[in-house]
Amino acid sequence: MIETPVDRLEALRAQAMACTACRLSEGRTHVVFGDGSPNADVVIVGEAPGQREDEQGVPFVGPSGMLLDRLLGEIDLERSDVYIANVVKCRPPNNRDPLPDEIEACKGYLSEQLRLIDPKVVVTLGNFSSKLLLKTDTGITRLRGTAFEWWGRRLIPTFHPAAALRGSARVLEDMRYDFGLIRDAIDGNLASEDDTDLGTPPESDSDPEQLGLFGR
Ligand code: URA
Repeated sequence: MIETPVDRLEALRAQAMACTACRLSEGRTHVVFGDGSPNADVVIVGEAPGQREDEQGVPFVGPSGMLLDRLLGEIDLERSDVYIANVVKCRPPNNRDPLPDEIEACKGYLSEQLRLIDPKVVVTLGNFSSKLLLKTDTGITRLRGTAFEWWGRRLIPTFHPAAALRGSARVLEDMRYDFGLIRDAIDGNLASEDDTDLGTPPESDSDPEQLGLFGR
């Protein structure tokens, strides 16, 4: 029987469920692998599961998730239309930031998820996923507002919903602009001046299979 990308995604999920590659496996209730359509045009990448996500094994089910659902609704998307995943699949203790070795240990799962789902648009929420996928030290405040060309698709960085919940109305306004770019990218309505080279890997690095999309 031929194994489809959907079968391979399920096999990858099973592998992640048993993963002990880093210390985060010790404190988890559930591995939060990903949720949504394996055929989605849009993959959304957050940072790490929080308490609610750890309890339920599903990404973005807490307050940040409610805001994410609302912003998706405003561009006529439902959760089931997209696929949602995180940079690390297990909750860091006390919601601390994921550490570099934890990101390193986990990033192969995200890379493979993106390769198998093969979306038109990748949306990165906040600094961790944006910097990891664009291989840059530039912060989200400067990265956002642009739809980057990235491995033959668009990558749209925006603030993490938690920043909008904590921050000013301006953050939410900026996120609405960025979600407008997602809609435009899906509809094929992005003008070429929205492109920039920042997220485009150099020619010599141009084999996504070899690079695992965003790193060696
Ligand atoms: N924040 C994240 O980055 N991911 C989640 O799944 C929940 C909150």
